[in-house]
Amino acid sequence: MDDLVAIREAAALVDVDLRATLGSSWSCRAEDDLTITISDGHVSETSLLDPAEWCEMQGAPDDEAHRAADAFDAVTAEATEILRVLGREWPVCRHHDVVLDACEGTWLCPAGAGHDVAFVGELASST
Ligand SMILES: [Zn+2]
Repeated sequence: MDDLVAIREAAALVDVDLRATLGSSWSCRAEDDLTITISDGHVSETSLLDPAEWCEMQGAPDDEAHRAADAFDAVTAEATEILRVLGREWPVCRHHDVVLDACEGTWLCPAGAGHDVAFVGELASST
């Protein structure tokens, strides 16, 4: 799996979570130039994946599990940042009303001792 494939797969799962929580007009796409574009159907915002995170990816152990995990971290961090630019706090823990972090494909709530919320792509089924 090359990096772009991993990035696209991560973006596709963020896309699922966006639509499930904010509405079907929303979308998240990864492009060949390593940008992430998020749209609410009217306004869209594009951002290049953070070069610092990208460097970490390049330096990571060269196996599929690590690549996929790093792709998730880069895409989820960028998605949260783009949503902030669009004036949305996303995704938010429904119990604690704080913006979630993501680590290796799982949305995590930083409130209190912290807790796992859902796998990326399954946010709508979180309780
Ligand atoms: Zn929480």
